[in-house]
Amino acid sequence: MASASITLTNTMSIWRDRAAPIETDAFVPDGDYDLVVVGAGLTGLVTGLLFARAGMRVAVLEARSVGAATTGNTTAKLSLLQGKHLSEMLRHTSVKMGQAYVDGNREGMMWLLRYCEEHGVPVQRKTAFSYASSPGAVDRVNEEYRAGVALGLDVTRESSIDVPFPVHGAVALADQAQFDPMDVLAELARDFRRHGGTLIEDVRVQRVRPGDPNRILTNRGLVTADKVVLATGMPIMNRGLYFAKEQAQRSYALAFRVPGRLPDGMFLSVDLPTRSVRTAPMGEAGDSDYLLIGGNGHPVGRHPSPLSLVNDLTRWTELHFPGAERTHSWSAQDYEPVGRVPFVGWMPRSRGQVFFASGYDKWGMTNAVAASLTLAGDILGGHIPWAQTLHRRTTTLQDAGSFIGANAAVGVAAVRGYTRAWLRQMPADEPAEGRGVVTHDGVRPIGMSTVDGASCTVSAVCPHLAGVLSWNNLELSWDCPLHGSRFSASGRLLEGPATRDLRRFA
Ligand SMILES: Cc1cc2nc3c(=O)[nH]c(=O)nc-3n(C[C@H](O)[C@H](O)[C@H](O)COP(=O)(O)OP(=O)(O)OC[C@H]3O[C@@H](n4cnc5c(N)ncnc54)[C@H](O)[C@@H]3O)c2cc1C
Repeated sequence: MASASITLTNTMSIWRDRAAPIETDAFVPDGDYDLVVVGAGLTGLVTGLLFARAGMRVAVLEARSVGAATTGNTTAKLSLLQGKHLSEMLRHTSVKMGQAYVDGNREGMMWLLRYCEEHGVPVQRKTAFSYASSPGAVDRVNEEYRAGVALGLDVTRESSIDVPFPVHGAVALADQAQFDPMDVLAELARDFRRHGGTLIEDVRVQRVRPGDPNRILTNRGLVTADKVVLATGMPIMNRGLYFAKEQAQRSYALAFRVPGRLPDGMFLSVDLPTRSVRTAPMGEAGDSDYLLIGGNGHPVGRHPSPLSLVNDLTRWTELHFPGAERTHSWSAQDYEPVGRVPFVGWMPRSRGQVFFASGYDKWGMTNAVAASLTLAGDILGGHIPWAQTLHRRTTTLQDAGSFIGANAAVGVAAVRGYTRAWLRQMPADEPAEGRGVVTHDGVRPIGMSTVDGASCTVSAVCPHLAGVLSWNNLELSWDCPLHGSRFSASGRLLEGPATRDLRRFA
């Protein structure tokens, strides 16, 4: 499907590197729509398409470009076996709720596979494996196997699998799938516009005022709509406190050219350090597939050296796949919800006019579509039994415990950020190339960095909820350890629940 040649040692995802341009529309100030969808990732585009097909006037407003945040940087395994997710979910919720989750994911998966087939988007069918990389993790594999059986999946228990890295047993589920997520987004965008939808890039929604109609304030002017869907990853509205019920998790992915045979399947370790393995048929004619390796996730803004994590993944790959040559490395984040079941539905105190979907816990290829189907059922009318069950989720004692734990960690990160900023004297010189330091000017935390020879000083306080940012030495960005907002060295907002850039001082 996609065009363009691949650049070696690129810091863009292999999908975005090769993606052909996507046609979009111009922003119309004071535009009025039946539905505005905020965000053009998988959730936003599937939702937009479902409503455009139903004859509604729909606009999808995207702050950056289609797929720029998580969907264009995913590893795009479309699978009902999801690492150790099923057994972890069953620790938090009932089998009935877990079954509704699997049913929704199955429907999301079937929808996407059917869509790809009908629209000529290439998909490779593969067996998914959740494996133990050490003897101590065999119990986790057994637990995942039992969870899969309890939830009606045709999982099998494998004592060994044909891969060149250590495996001490695995669960397998045949006939899952993988694809290029930018192929899918490009086709959804085309189809959405063919159905009369309006797709606008480079327009950031800064605030939504619920009302009749809803007023959507953007950096380029006001638009109005009868209904709004926030498909922004973590919701950009604070009501409902979803920022405190999810944790932003950043992780890393690399592509390699490898001499010799590659493993056939999609693999994810159930133990740490996480290793995610798949292939991608990306070569020009005659070339072999690329090998994709992912893992080493951590809460956004809380690792001292993301660069070391990519180096670690590279070393692991070179050890197990001799001769591997890295072509791409990239990073992205997704949101882990308390209770491990996504949040989908209407925003509290929005008069039932503003909806959102979030918290896919790195399993958005199925969950994004399930969420879009749920929202279409909620808004257009329709009875989807698994969606009704998922709407009835409640917070268990255990959820409350992990909620308190996660927010205590946020509190610690907040205090640590301010203490470090205040203790650090302003450096006499500008930081060296690729470096960033947080210091203070009076009581105000500031961030100083140098990237591509340009030195910048910005406010180091996140405009979302005032966390002190930390420097990301891999992506040369300012990352918030509280709720995962990220900014470029010059202060431009990249992603997360914030809606404004950082103040720039120099
Ligand atoms: C490294 C990694 C690997 C993964 N691998 C897999 C996998 O193998 N299988 C799987 O199922 N899932 C995987 N996931 C998860 C999956 O990629 C995500 O759950 C999914 O892509 C989320 O889609 P989305 O549309 O909700 O969010 P996004 O793709 O992030 O889309 C949200 C969009 O909203 C835009 N936006 C944000 N704020 C605003 C605003 N104020 N105004 C306008 N626009 C805004 C953003 O720019 C963005 O384009 C992975 C995630 C990561 C991080």
